[in-house]
Amino acid sequence: MKHGLTMTSVETPTPNLLSFVIFALAYFLSAKLCFLMATTSENITVVWLPNAFTLTALLYYRGQRYWLFIIAAVIAEALSEVSVFPWHESIILGLVNATETMLAFLILKKSGVSSRLDSLDDIAKFIVAGPLIGSFIGTIFGCLTIQYYSPHTDHFFALVRLWWFGDALGLLIVCPLLLTLLHGKKQPVQAFNKIDVCVSMLTLGLLSLIIFTKEVLLFEVFITPTLILPSMLYLAARTNPKWTAMGVFLMYLLITLLISLGRHPFGEVPISLAIVYAQEFILTLSISSLGLASLITHIRQNEKILEARVIARTQALNQLNSTLHTLSLTDGLTGIANRRRFDEQFALAWSHAMRTSQPLTLGMIDIDWFKAYNDHYGHQAGDDCLRQVSAILKAHLHRASDFLARYGGEEFVFMSAATDAHQASAIAHTLCNAFRTTPLPHAASNIGHVTVSIGMVTITPRVGDDPSTILKAADQALYQAKAQGRNQVIMADHRVNS
Ligand code: GH3
Ligand code: MG
Ligand code: MG
Repeated sequence: MKHGLTMTSVETPTPNLLSFVIFALAYFLSAKLCFLMATTSENITVVWLPNAFTLTALLYYRGQRYWLFIIAAVIAEALSEVSVFPWHESIILGLVNATETMLAFLILKKSGVSSRLDSLDDIAKFIVAGPLIGSFIGTIFGCLTIQYYSPHTDHFFALVRLWWFGDALGLLIVCPLLLTLLHGKKQPVQAFNKIDVCVSMLTLGLLSLIIFTKEVLLFEVFITPTLILPSMLYLAARTNPKWTAMGVFLMYLLITLLISLGRHPFGEVPISLAIVYAQEFILTLSISSLGLASLITHIRQNEKILEARVIARTQALNQLNSTLHTLSLTDGLTGIANRRRFDEQFALAWSHAMRTSQPLTLGMIDIDWFKAYNDHYGHQAGDDCLRQVSAILKAHLHRASDFLARYGGEEFVFMSAATDAHQASAIAHTLCNAFRTTPLPHAASNIGHVTVSIGMVTITPRVGDDPSTILKAADQALYQAKAQGRNQVIMADHRVNS
């Protein structure tokens, strides 16, 4: 089966038998209700509800099996109007109503409206396509039909005005509400505060006055439904479009019921004027309160999106900062600490050693003949060698108190909490030996083994000692190790702790 009018969407529910039964029943009962509350000789009601069910079904199912909905609507309308119009007139009116809703649906489909009507843009398009264009065209055909079958009707334009407003209001107050309910979309509501409770009580109080006051004039004040407009607007702003639409719908039912019961909520005026007043009031109430509720919900949602975005960006920025911080303290080639990190750690270790009077060992390591290695094997191989040297040193400096860093070029530095100079010297010799036992790239070359020279110093810092002197001492020891033939460890003669 082809569904030429299907609107595109991610998940399209398909109408089944139950959908048609519920739709036809809703159409029939709402039409009955409207006729029950109708008061004029042409059976014009304040609001005509059934068309809202047709347009909602077309939008919700995106036009799937639209013709079945149209047939169901025409039959339901004919059945509901058995006691009101002759059957052929009912069928024509049913077709007129179907044309009205199909026209509105086609315009909405063409303008790419979502079936949820959840954006302000969609609501605006809906108002133009449904209540303005669709309802107006439907009204013209409807009134012409009535005029044709009852030629004595002499107030054609008054009829057009009442009919149009009734149809338009039906679509306006029911379609968005039904679509929200059908989609089961949760709309958040703010927690009620004391003012909200007071305004709700005030609204109920005013409603009671409107319902129970027989005379419109009470203590020289006109008690008309318009009195509750400010508090309804307040509640619309505090709740959401769904609650607001329900409130508007209940207000419509209440006012229509009062009029059909022969009450005069807008004063002692002719019935057609009372309907005009009621329609104007419901129009004002629905446009202002639904507009306000949608607008404020839209602003709240945007605020939430913005807040979430700020949080995400802040997290990303913090992550980036911490990565940058780590990078700024890490040597890019070998992945171990760089000189900056070493200087920080050294300052900490120095003050700790000073507080605890524990000896601190510092070793400067320099690769022997590295320039020749680079010249012979190339810079890339030199880099690989630096990484391997760093890995070997790291593997042998694994105690919690050991700290290794690349000090620059092919020079490494380590510090360690050795208990005495002998232990410190043992560490250094282990490091030197490690290069003899661990194979390095090109180790069997004519350049021979990659070896390192180490200058070391062990000191228990005292007040007045300068940390830079221990670095200098280790450097001098390294220079000596180089001068004495390389591939060896020299302990600096610097107040060695023994
Ligand atoms: P010595 O035994 O006296 O230490 O001689 P040497 O050649 O190792 O010492 P020197 O200071 O003369 O040369 C150090 C060389 O280290 C110079 C440079 O080419 C090389 N070098 C420094 N940093 C890097 C690096 O990041 N990658 C590579 N491949 N080579 C580096
Ligand atoms: Mg060097
Ligand atoms: Mg060197």
